[in-house]
This record gives sequence, structure tokens and C-alpha cells, in this order.
Amino acid sequence: MEPIFLWWIGEGPAQAGLLEHVRLHLAAAFQRPALPWDGPERPAGALDPRRGQHATSVILTWLLQAGPPAGKVLAVTDQDLFIPILTYVFGEAQLGGRAAVCSTARLAEGVALAGPRLLVERLAKEAVHEVGHAFGLRHCDTLGCVMGRSPGVAGVDQKSHQLCTTCRRRLEEPPARRPHVR
Ligand SMILES: [Zn+2]
Ligand SMILES: [Zn+2]
Repeated sequence: MEPIFLWWIGEGPAQAGLLEHVRLHLAAAFQRPALPWDGPERPAGALDPRRGQHATSVILTWLLQAGPPAGKVLAVTDQDLFIPILTYVFGEAQLGGRAAVCSTARLAEGVALAGPRLLVERLAKEAVHEVGHAFGLRHCDTLGCVMGRSPGVAGVDQKSHQLCTTCRRRLEEPPARRPHVR
């Protein structure tokens, strides 16, 4: 069974506790090994100087070249991410592909008051969400399902870490190959 690799590609130092929490959630949600991946490389050309944000499309393409040769790879960054039509995104993935990325930048909203645990929980949910897309899962309307859309942090806080039974069943089906989804 091919593993899920977790790679910190942020500017700042990786927070080991944060990534370990994400790793455990990935392994539990997808019932397969989730392993740390590390390397000094960082995505080249992802920063859009006009927006001051990093383009997820560039990061996803780069991950396939620079990342592990097999399995899924989820990159986690502290840099703000965007796709051209939106102000920002928490993350993006290749639907039914190998690469996914998510960022702590916008998930940190309100964390100074609520405490760092909130960021850990939000990141774990968005990590499972993006890797779910990489396994071919689309957005889900089931209340509380981690594959629900979450346009803001309030939506992230409202949903659970779990895939609903429908999404878990869909994981068994062959994934549809489609381009990026957020
Ligand atoms: Zn669902
Ligand atoms: Zn999504």
C-alpha cells in the first residue's frame, strides 16, 4: 500500500508536534502509512510578486518533480496560498492525483486568543480534506464531513476530522482523474 508523505515546505521552521498530529490523522483517515518526507528544496517560482502569495498550481507541479517518487505527497507551508480566481485558499490538490498542499497562513486566524491547539486541529482537517481530493473525493454535503466546503475558518471549525460513510465508501472506488480542486 503506497504511503502518504508529509513534507514541510514553509519558510519558517517546521513545528514537529503540528506535523506529527497531521501525520496521525492522515494515517487514520486513509488507513495506510503516513510518513514524514524532508528535503531542503522549496518550490521555485511559486511566489507571485504582485499578490505576495504563492500559487498552488506551481507548487503542485513542483511537488511531482521534487517530492517522493510514489504515493501521495502533502506539502504543508506557512506561506499564503492562492488560485487566480480567489483571494486565498487553505489548500489545493490534484483530484485523483498525487500531490496536495495546504497552508497554516489563513488557519491561524483567532489562534492567538484560542491557543495553538486550534491551529493543530484546523490543519489536520484541511490536510485530510486535501489528501481526500488526491484520493479522488469531491466536496461532500454531509453535515460534519471533512470533505465539506469551508470558505472560512468558521467552516473549518464546524466540521469534524472524519470522512462520512459515503466518502469512506467512495475511497474504495477507482478515482476519477481530474485537474485541481481546492
Ligand atoms: Zn462526506
Ligand atoms: Zn476541497
